[in-house]
Amino acid sequence: MNMIEFVDVDKIYPNGTRALHNVSFSVESGEFVFVIGESGAGKSTIVKLLTCEEHPSHGSVILGGQDVSELPDKYVPFLRRKIGMIFQDFRLISSRTVAENVAYAMEVTGASPKEIMRRVPLVLSVVGLKNKADVYPAQLSGGEGQRVGIARALVNNPRLILADEPTGNLDPVNGEAIMALLERINRNGTTIIACTHDQNLVNKMQKRVLQLEKGTVTRDEYCGNYYCVSTEKELSPIEDKTEFAQDFEADEAEAFAEFNESTKQTTDRTSLLDNLVQDSESRRTRYSSLNRTEEMKEILKKIDERVKQREAMRRQEEMLSYHEARDGSEENTIESGEFFE
Ligand code: ADP
Repeated sequence: MNMIEFVDVDKIYPNGTRALHNVSFSVESGEFVFVIGESGAGKSTIVKLLTCEEHPSHGSVILGGQDVSELPDKYVPFLRRKIGMIFQDFRLISSRTVAENVAYAMEVTGASPKEIMRRVPLVLSVVGLKNKADVYPAQLSGGEGQRVGIARALVNNPRLILADEPTGNLDPVNGEAIMALLERINRNGTTIIACTHDQNLVNKMQKRVLQLEKGTVTRDEYCGNYYCVSTEKELSPIEDKTEFAQDFEADEAEAFAEFNESTKQTTDRTSLLDNLVQDSESRRTRYSSLNRTEEMKEILKKIDERVKQREAMRRQEEMLSYHEARDGSEENTIESGEFFE
C-alpha cells in the first residue's frame, strides 16, 4: 500500500518562488527513500507539505490515503504526532535532560505515565544513550545529540520518519552511525524519508534515491547512488557500494530486539482521518494539562532513579570484575614468586 502519494504537485510560495513543479511520486509503506538535490531544489518543501506546514498550490499530497490539504486544521497537530521528525540541528530543549526531551514527546500525546516510564529508557537504550538519560543537551556530542533526536522521533512508534539533513551537522563517523541506526529502524517497518546532501552515505546505503532539480523530480531510482547534479553528460557514481555496517553493543542489540517486539507494526485498518479523530477525542478527555505536569515530574524522577540504579549496578559489576582480575593476578604473582624461590 502507498503510504505517500504526491500527485502533480506545484508549490508556489506567496513571494512567487516556485519551489516544486509537477512533482509526482509515491512511497510504499516500509520504504527508505533519500531525497537529494542541491540547496533550493525543493527538498524541505516536500517535508513541509507532508507535515501540513505548507499546502500545495496545485495537486494533492496524500498520506495514508488521506489528502492532507483537506484535513481540518484541528487534526493537524495529531497528524504531526504520527510522524517522527529529525532535524539537522536536533532541536532539543536545552533546559531539559535527555530523558525529559524524549518523555516530553510522549507526554504531549497524552501517553499514560506507565507507558512513558516503560518506553523512554527502552528507546534510549535503542539509540545507545541509556547512560546519558539525565544529562543536558549542552553536555552531549553532536552524534549523541542526534541520537536523542532519533529517540524523540521514535518514542511514539511513528509509521513515518521524516529526516531533514539528519547528518548535516555531523562528522563522517557519526553520520554513518546515525544512518545505520535509521536503517535498523527502517528494517522494523518504519518508512523513512531522508533529505540529504551527504553523497557518501547515499552511495553506501544503496536505497531508493529521488533527485530534485529546481523543484522537479529528475531521477527516481531504486538502489541508487548520489550523482553530482551537474551539466556533465555522463554521470557516474562517486563511490562504489561498500558494506554498510555498524558495531552494535550486545545490550543495545538486545534493547533493539525488545523495542521491535513491543512496536511491531500492525496492519491498521482504520483510515488516517478516523485515526486522527479518535486521537483528538481520547487525548482531550484523558488528561488535563495540570495533571500532566505533575505526573511528568514524577515520571522523570522515576526514570532518573532507574538510570542511576542501573549505573550503580554496572559500576558494582565493574568493581567486582576488577577485584577478581586483581586477585587472579596476585595469585599468579605468588605462584611465580614460589617458582623463583
Ligand atoms: P531545499 O530544502 O532543497 O534547500 P527548499 O524546499 O527549502 O529547498 O526551497 C525551495 C525553493 O523555495 C528555494 O528557492 C527557496 O528559496 C524557496 N522557499 C522555501 N521556503 C520559502 C518560503 N517560505 N517563502 C518563499 N520562498 C521559499
